[in-house]
Amino acid sequence: MSNSIKKIGVFTSGGDSPGMNAAVRSVVRACAFHSVECVGIYRGYEGMIDGDFTPMDARSVKGIINKGGTILKSARSKEFRTKEGRAKAYEQLKKANIDALVVIGGDGSFTGSMIFNQEYNFPVMGIPGTIDNDIFGTSHTLGYDTALNTVVEAIDKIRDTASSHNRLFFVEVMGRDVGHIALNVGVGAGAEEILIPEEDLGLDRLLESLRRSKQSGKSSSIVVVAEGDKIGKNVFELKDYVDANMAEYEVRVSVLGHMQRGGPPSCFDRVLASRMGVRAVEGLLNGESNYMVGLRNDKIQITPFDQAVKGKSKINMELLRVSDIMSV
Ligand code: ATP
Repeated sequence: MSNSIKKIGVFTSGGDSPGMNAAVRSVVRACAFHSVECVGIYRGYEGMIDGDFTPMDARSVKGIINKGGTILKSARSKEFRTKEGRAKAYEQLKKANIDALVVIGGDGSFTGSMIFNQEYNFPVMGIPGTIDNDIFGTSHTLGYDTALNTVVEAIDKIRDTASSHNRLFFVEVMGRDVGHIALNVGVGAGAEEILIPEEDLGLDRLLESLRRSKQSGKSSSIVVVAEGDKIGKNVFELKDYVDANMAEYEVRVSVLGHMQRGGPPSCFDRVLASRMGVRAVEGLLNGESNYMVGLRNDKIQITPFDQAVKGKSKINMELLRVSDIMSV
């Protein structure tokens, strides 16, 4: 491995997600294993500009693999979007003798790092951390699996009350641009219908499906709605529509919100974070830069930042068909 990198900085950026701490731990320990110094950068690019750094050794990341959120805190930085802001960040990194970076975040964070790399030729590797799973080049982002489990558990609980009162629930889940969460939890929690940003199922079909469900003797119905569903109505508007068109249903709404981001990471996310952290550090030590570490066909693979940022993560449309068959 290369000797030119002696100190690596690690930070979390954008929205937090479960598994970020496990990834920080992995980066810190991989550095210790390879006898490279590691520095934690607080509050993403904000902290980089302010020089808010802390030395990290193998013991400083004990007890965090099972913690949600991020001990390094996260932030969105307007200043880093400017040339002047990035110049300040570069000066701070130089002053602290940091030679390379591992960024844990979403596509915005990768875009920032890519621009920084172009301007200063600063070695950087990325680890995708976001519950939405909306990044090209990896089948799973950190936190996605945990979020699926959190949401399925919440819908199971909603189902208990829905079936006790013969109610219809619209449950809003995260997913402004992609329907990964909605689609998977919809199938996993046995939803009647799943509304996603990728496909407009239409209001007529929704009503028809709900009527069929009622006629077939079902005691409750759950419709999972991604925040950005293509019908273009939010859960409250959908409730009003069904209220106005189907008197036979007592309709309720549940918006799951930020609870979807929290909680201890699943075993899958902890293992993925551990693998990704090691790969990111070893990549840097081998002279790689400007790549995102991802998972494809259960293998850790790297994708150039520009492809990861530009590419579109595709949902599994087969799940929509499976859902239709399951809600017969
Ligand atoms: P999430 O998926 O949770 O939104 P993200 O990493 O996409 O995470 P963003 O807010 O888009 O979150 O980006 C995080 C930070 O990355 C921004 O606050 C900004 O500091 C930096 N960043 C994003 N885009 C750019 C850009 N074009 N140039 C420079 N910096 C950028």
